[in-house]
Amino acid sequence: MRGHEADANFDIITDAAARIDPKNRKLTGVIYQWCHLCDEEHRASDRQFMHVFHHPKVVCVSSSGLCRLSSHQFCGLVCHELGHMLAGKRASEERADQAAEAFFRVKIRYDKKRIQYLTIEDMLRLVKLAEQYWDQ
Ligand SMILES: [Zn+2]
Ligand SMILES: [Zn+2]
Repeated sequence: MRGHEADANFDIITDAAARIDPKNRKLTGVIYQWCHLCDEEHRASDRQFMHVFHHPKVVCVSSSGLCRLSSHQFCGLVCHELGHMLAGKRASEERADQAAEAFFRVKIRYDKKRIQYLTIEDMLRLVKLAEQYWDQ
């Protein structure tokens, strides 16, 4: 995945969120950015690519999260991280997935490497929501 694809995928997810619930305070205005701590965490654990609650309203992403992940994995991980924001700091990994699934009405799946991903159908569902948001 290239940088502009990460930008586009992230925008689709946050615009879909704005369409689903325009007044959601936890997700409104969320951005992503590269974070050196994320790179350290990724070196320690190779399926660690992103984290939240480091900076308010920011999904921190490692370098490998920006260049090694497929769009499917990037979208799955971003939805999972937004699930953490919805579920709160103390929520478990399962609760984060449940919160994301309930909000976006997608299924957070795990591949052979235990990395989250979305199916193309779920990605298209988010694109449709984002398009509805742009048309408003
Ligand atoms: Zn960070
Ligand atoms: Zn998590």
